[in-house]
Amino acid sequence: MRQQYLAIKKQFPGTIVLFRLGDFYESFDEDAKTVAQVCDVVLTSRPVGKNVRVPLAGVPYHAVEGYIAKLIAAGYKVAIAEQQGTEAVKGLVPRDVRRVITPGTLVEPGLLEEKRNNYLAALVRADDHVGLAYADITTGEFATTELSGAELEARLSEELGRIAPSELLVPENGAGDRDEGQGALGSYLISPLPVWRFEPGTARQALLDHFGVASLEGYGCERLPLAIAAAGAIIQYLRETQRGAVGQIVGLRTYTTAEYMALDEATRRNLELTQTIRSGRVRGSLLGVLDTTRTAMGARLLRRWLNQPLLTLAPLQGRLDAVEAWTRDTPRRTEIREMLRHVGDLERLINRVTGRTATPRDLVGVRKALEQVPRIRSLAEEVMGRAASEAHPENAPPQDAGAFHLDSCDDVAALIAAAISDTPPVALSTGDVIRPGFSAELDSIVTAARDAKTWIANLERTERERSGIKSLKVGYNKVFGYYIEVTNANRDAVPTHYLRKQTLVGAERYITPELKEYESLVLNAEDRILDLETQLFRQVCDQVASAAPRVLATAQALAELDVSASLAEIAANNRYVRPELAENGLLEIRAGRHPVVELTLRDEPFVPNDLHLSPDESIVILTGPNMAGKSTFLRQVALIVLMAQIGSFVPADSAHIGLVDRIFTRIGAQDEISAGQSTFMVEMVETANILHHATPRSLLILDEIGRGTSTYDGMSIAWAVVEYIHNHPRLGAKTLFATHYHELTELAKTLPRLRNYNVAVHEEGGRVVFLRKIVPGGADRSYGIHVGKLAGLPRTVIQRAEEVLRELERSREAKARRAVVPPPVQLSLFGQPSAIEQELAALDVLSMSPLDALNKLYELSQKAGGKGGEKR
Ligand code: ATP
Repeated sequence: MRQQYLAIKKQFPGTIVLFRLGDFYESFDEDAKTVAQVCDVVLTSRPVGKNVRVPLAGVPYHAVEGYIAKLIAAGYKVAIAEQQGTEAVKGLVPRDVRRVITPGTLVEPGLLEEKRNNYLAALVRADDHVGLAYADITTGEFATTELSGAELEARLSEELGRIAPSELLVPENGAGDRDEGQGALGSYLISPLPVWRFEPGTARQALLDHFGVASLEGYGCERLPLAIAAAGAIIQYLRETQRGAVGQIVGLRTYTTAEYMALDEATRRNLELTQTIRSGRVRGSLLGVLDTTRTAMGARLLRRWLNQPLLTLAPLQGRLDAVEAWTRDTPRRTEIREMLRHVGDLERLINRVTGRTATPRDLVGVRKALEQVPRIRSLAEEVMGRAASEAHPENAPPQDAGAFHLDSCDDVAALIAAAISDTPPVALSTGDVIRPGFSAELDSIVTAARDAKTWIANLERTERERSGIKSLKVGYNKVFGYYIEVTNANRDAVPTHYLRKQTLVGAERYITPELKEYESLVLNAEDRILDLETQLFRQVCDQVASAAPRVLATAQALAELDVSASLAEIAANNRYVRPELAENGLLEIRAGRHPVVELTLRDEPFVPNDLHLSPDESIVILTGPNMAGKSTFLRQVALIVLMAQIGSFVPADSAHIGLVDRIFTRIGAQDEISAGQSTFMVEMVETANILHHATPRSLLILDEIGRGTSTYDGMSIAWAVVEYIHNHPRLGAKTLFATHYHELTELAKTLPRLRNYNVAVHEEGGRVVFLRKIVPGGADRSYGIHVGKLAGLPRTVIQRAEEVLRELERSREAKARRAVVPPPVQLSLFGQPSAIEQELAALDVLSMSPLDALNKLYELSQKAGGKGGEKR
């Protein structure tokens, strides 16, 4: 057995081998130490020959999934070596690895997150090109692309950020990453593969073999060797880990990142699209608000949409039409959403059937889902058809209804209904899976077994009657099977055809040929039933799998319906409107709201705000006190645009959205210390990225650029950045710039396409009331100290801060009066040092006595206009 183990272990280097031994999965040697530590189980040892013991750690077979989950979560791969049947060959049960479980190839429902895809990705580089492919074997999605050009690294990190693979395959010679280090891939779980797996010839052949085709032309990647290399590596890896069965992957989509709005990591994070910055949860993110889908596949689709906003009108109008139709028909929307609840995760169910991991209950799940389809289809046709005929009364009969390729796959549902009982057991091992009437052979075994049991059960009574022996008993033991027992007193009355089998102290036990026959019927029946049920179940699975592409298409159409109806539900409940989309540079939002913040406010109503950005008024400088709502407004504009470009309604009274190609954000200070960069450095890197990559069609959201350094440095950078965006011929992007530097409002004098706005506050008797309304013009105060007061800073600190502020403002006004007005693009900030500063600079502090120093300080304080306190 040790040799068998070592042979298996050798085939799967770098993988923890769990070796089935009776009721346990055992691990040995180094693996045992890892398993003991990660799974918190006892580490023992086991003798393997004379005086040699090896470490051993085992987990019970029935709870193995939980332990595998722990190992996977800790970044390990696990190979499961199962016993092949129960027949020992030369004293040893053969064992074989059925599956290697890795983070990117999980299929166990218990180990997967329902509402998000689990992607395995592969990455390969050559020269200035990158091939990137990804697949989710639980849904059959498989896509590949090739990236190149000036923005290669940025695009790559955006794509990886979007895909968020659970496992990333790279060539083991390190060609996956740039020479500068592992930075870009640092956050992913890397699985190095032999370089030849990525070799275009090998990879191409793997794909051709897998799809059974002679050319990759139909998949759109024939001329993209790196896209082929990455996709081929994935197929090879899947084949290895799934031990051959990768029937789930039926197609490959070649895409370019230019089809979608690029969203860099920072923007995705800053806008809290799918998770919040603070908690990392979906709740509180945009997805958290938008996702009221009823199926896990719908939830996954919505998440994909949100991560890939579109750039072209036609598909967006299609999505919006569907959402609009569902918003208009609340009763049908309610009904379809109720029905979708019962659909379950058809996408993953059918893929488990194809991948041969389906349980009998999964098949029933497929059937139940398909049975909902006819009603769902007619609801969809009614709603969409009516919408289409209202939009185009000239083609009265429903035009778009046919767009729903909702095939209820009646043959599949009927087959499952006929073959599988309604409430089958979870696993095949217990029987009762196949419905009576499906297989005459099975039925006859079941009936015969049942009859035989009845016959044996009645035997005692019939034999007593026949022989006249009142005390005759029928019993069973493991060694002899069924027997008829007669006490010695009645021995003479025993019928002649009884065969003596066993002698006890006061009795004899007999059998009859008939009893033996029935006995073997009963005893063999269980095994035969199990064998036959397994065989029939496999046949049904194979038949269902052959219809899998149709079922999968239906699953995808259902997911899309689920998303449309869900977006419509949110639109209706939260008063969203259909955005008007166009291919122009106009962005006009009336009474826009922040989709997340508006739902979290309890005590005050959310104040809606307008926005107008056009090629003639492309930059807004937004000033206003702390806490006024600047950041909220900036994000809300970005979110509204993004929602429009996934085909959702938006929180506003009306919105005209000229499609944008990218949304860039530079928001707040992120704590990047762990990544080895200072906060300010990160801010500058992000700003540089924006200035290099924005286009006139982009939307720039810049919140407090330059805050992380000294005031003058920060303000100067902010000033120059705005000028650059305004004046650079490649830019002119639509820009929202929130700042505390009121000086920047001066820019409106020199930059014609720049407008100043501020968030209004009302000051009354020392109290500040935030009005949250955005009004034209610049703000002149920050009210930061006021916010400090609200936050509970000690009173002495607040008072002192007010004094210092007054002093600073006075000296600045004095400076401003003295200052010569600089040419327009210069800052009018750098005045001469004040008299007090000059006096301070001239002091020789080290040679002063403490008393002299105190007196000097008093004098300076008085000069500066302070009272200096009571002199004692
Ligand atoms: P700072 O300059 O300090 O970063 P800010 O001006 O960016 O502040 P926000 O963070 O946008 O202010 O807003 C502060 C709080 O004000 C938000 O958390 C929200 O609760 C509330 N708020 C913002 N905008 C609105 C609005 N339009 N209507 C109602 N409440 C709002």
